[in-house]
Amino acid sequence: MTAKVIDGKVIGEQIRAEVAAEIEERVRAGKPHPGLATVLVGENPASQVYVRSKQKACAEVGIESFGYNLPATTSQADLEKLVADLNADPKVNGILVQLPLPPGFDEERVLSTISVEKDVDGFHPINIGRLAQKGRDPLFIPCTPAGVMYLLEHELHSLEGLEAVVLGRSNIVGMPVALLLVRANATVTICHSRSKDLKEIVRRADLLVAAVGKAEMVKGDWVKPGCVVIDVGINRVEDASKPRGYRLTGDVAYDEVAEVARAITPVPGGVGPLTIAMLLKNTLRAANLAEK
Ligand code: NDP
Repeated sequence: MTAKVIDGKVIGEQIRAEVAAEIEERVRAGKPHPGLATVLVGENPASQVYVRSKQKACAEVGIESFGYNLPATTSQADLEKLVADLNADPKVNGILVQLPLPPGFDEERVLSTISVEKDVDGFHPINIGRLAQKGRDPLFIPCTPAGVMYLLEHELHSLEGLEAVVLGRSNIVGMPVALLLVRANATVTICHSRSKDLKEIVRRADLLVAAVGKAEMVKGDWVKPGCVVIDVGINRVEDASKPRGYRLTGDVAYDEVAEVARAITPVPGGVGPLTIAMLLKNTLRAANLAEK
């Protein structure tokens, strides 16, 4: 293996420590603890795990969390009413509606109901719209894409003029990552399920972000020597040797790609810890903005 391993756990810890220190300073100055409301609708087990780990991370840095668990039978109107109440609550600086919502909900309407100033997930259409416009800055950048950029800038310092390839064009990862890369002056190619000659396109990349949700799709011979590879994918692969009967793997065939890449994120322990760290950072930012 030749690639440097980009340790998201260590980098995420550093960010959390910075957030905790700033919150401590705020509290010492007589300001309230920042508050994050998490809204979980239904019983999706993965979403329950994500929300619990976000609440735990909040507690560790001094962010107060307010958890709302609603049944999947909740109406659209009741969900929007809850969000409106949270918008009006001064103890709540950030509102996170865990996605995906169960079938039947109008996700865009729910996200539009969140106050732009409390949109710590960065998915409000105004924040996303500003991300796509030159010279306009969103108040909040979505957490996983922000984490991807943090790791890339940590590794490469400047992305200017680099060939970037993003695999995936979802609203929550691929597309915002691509928009952020354009803002950082990279030359960006976005690939998706209808793209042709993926291997040829990926081979041009100085930096590659894989966010497709297909276990180990990117092989060693797809990657240009010296490429920096950020693997966002989290996939379960059956593995009888593991106590749970599966292991987690990314969208990149790690061992092969690590032979050619200059640097690579592992799964788990790469982008995942940054997602939570960025949520904490955004919540602190929301609390600071509320006092301006
Ligand atoms: P989505 O399923 O919403 O999007 C997947 C994207 O990949 C789509 O744009 C799709 O194309 C594209 N795609 C699917 N198959 C292929 C293929 N064979 N070739 C090229 N492109 C393909 O997933 P998300 O963006 O939500 O998540 C992506 C991965 O990242 C998942 O594994 C998820 O678990 C993980 N994730 C990790 C997070 C973290 O914190 N580390 C946070 C969020 C997600 P099309 O648009 O044409 O359908």
